Amino acid sequence: MRFPQTFIEDLKRQADIVRIVQDYVPLKKAGTNWRAPCPFHKETKPSFNVNPAKEMFFCFGCHKGGTVFNFIMEMERVTFPEAIKLVAEKAGVPLPQMIDDDRFEARRRDSDQVIELNQWALQWWQDQLQSRAATSVRQYLKERGITDETANTFRLGFAPDSWDALSTHLRQKGAGQEQLEKSGLVVKKDEGGSYDRFRGRIIFPVFDVQGKPIAFGGRTLDPDGDPKYLNSPETPAYIKGRNLYGLHLTRDEIRRQGFAILVEGYLDLIIPFQHGVRNLVASLGTALTAEQVKLVGRFAHKVLVNYDGDRAGVQAAKRAIETILAEDIEVKVLVLPDNADPDDFIRNNGVSEYNRRRGEAQPHIQFVIDQAVRDRNLNTPAEKAAAVEETLPFIRAVRNRIQKREYFDIAMDGLRVQREQRRELWHQVRGAASADVTAVQRVFVKPERPTVAEEKLLGLLVANDELRKIILPRLEPADTDGLATAAIFRALQQLATAEKEITFEALSEATAETPAAAELLPRLLINEPAESFDEALADCDSCVNALRLMKLDRDIEELSARIAEADRAGESERRDRLVMEKLELSKRRSNFLPPGNAAN
Ligand SMILES: [Zn+2]
Repeated sequence: MRFPQTFIEDLKRQADIVRIVQDYVPLKKAGTNWRAPCPFHKETKPSFNVNPAKEMFFCFGCHKGGTVFNFIMEMERVTFPEAIKLVAEKAGVPLPQMIDDDRFEARRRDSDQVIELNQWALQWWQDQLQSRAATSVRQYLKERGITDETANTFRLGFAPDSWDALSTHLRQKGAGQEQLEKSGLVVKKDEGGSYDRFRGRIIFPVFDVQGKPIAFGGRTLDPDGDPKYLNSPETPAYIKGRNLYGLHLTRDEIRRQGFAILVEGYLDLIIPFQHGVRNLVASLGTALTAEQVKLVGRFAHKVLVNYDGDRAGVQAAKRAIETILAEDIEVKVLVLPDNADPDDFIRNNGVSEYNRRRGEAQPHIQFVIDQAVRDRNLNTPAEKAAAVEETLPFIRAVRNRIQKREYFDIAMDGLRVQREQRRELWHQVRGAASADVTAVQRVFVKPERPTVAEEKLLGLLVANDELRKIILPRLEPADTDGLATAAIFRALQQLATAEKEITFEALSEATAETPAAAELLPRLLINEPAESFDEALADCDSCVNALRLMKLDRDIEELSARIAEADRAGESERRDRLVMEKLELSKRRSNFLPPGNAAN
């Protein structure tokens, strides 16, 4: 697919570079040149020049320059052939037959026809919105906080509740039945003929990045109306997942700010826009596609995902994050309080509060960790494994290696993963290979060997009723939580409370959920009671002591992770508090007193 070279040269001559650039940049005449502040770099003094005689532009600030095609390529982020098409369109020069591509031409003709019909339909719907019959619709828009100016900017319309009003209008303008059906503006009847697709709805037109109406969404005015939003089907002009709502209005601001805010619905874009937040795009309900991400990537390399805060919104946000990361674009996430969407939030709290929260958006990884930790107990290996599993894909998807490592460390700190386990997990995410779920499970749920202290203490307790009566009440849940044998300690406590005998059967039943613990039982029960009770009691005490030391070590390691976390987040107050806590624990560790004396 390419254009003949002679055509390209003719086009360059025919297209008035000043007029084309002027669509984007406010040029002022200065001698033979035209001048303006540069659209490609930040400046106040105009160093961007267009020379119509040479058919060139050049910026003395950032040294960008070239022909009208280079300008359009840079401005619209399009390829050379696409730039040629755009320039030809703007200059009103008909395109020659593309070399060797008839099907492309046919499709383009169909697409142009659909867009023409869409334009007629949209103009008519806009007129209907101003009619007497639409008084209540205008009232509704006002109640939703949409001003007339905004309705005009987004070209909102009203489709009256009629089966054929639009079709009749389009036929009068010259549309044939085949064209009508191709456009998706009507629905074909089985018995022949068709009726208007959008009836009794507010019309939200969807434009392509050049501002052509390619599809429509219609919101019902009936509170019980179903569906709430009705959308155009795919047509030669519209393929789902290729466009982003609002981009034709917001792309310059997105480029200027260096990031785009991704929202879900029409009003999530329209309301912030009206309040001056203008670097947004909306994905419109369907799952974000790689093509949409590439499209926004033409204008900025950072995206702030601001979906609804409800469960469906969070799930959609997570899918969007993965898609965005895969295109090597940085992602942050903004979750508004009380599950609010941007539309509600701005109407209730004002735009400055929205902007403040936007400034505090989390890096994607923090959002993912928060979601993974929610409703999970990280002290249980299986649940920790599940949280890690949920998080790893978002690290694996990061293309930049240094960033990947950084996100990995943040996640491991956030999920309190121990050092050796980190090493194994890093192996798993380093490559781009797909997720191996069982491998993550293995890292966490592999049977941990009980320590000597655990095994010895259990052996003594199992064999002697008197020791149990003394020692069990002294043990706190924290002493054994997270140990390989935790389930056995719990079983002993339960049997003691229920005043039941300690037998192999009773213990097996109570520890059936944790096979690793159950495996240990025969070895424990084979122990004979110790000969000297005092000696056994002293042994028990020193074992409990050892368990508490181990627990302190675990706590200290966890605090270190949390300090690293606070450090990275720049929360110096929290970090200082954690450092003090860690110091306190370290002190306790070095002055460690045996449990018998601890209480005194
Ligand atoms: Zn410049």
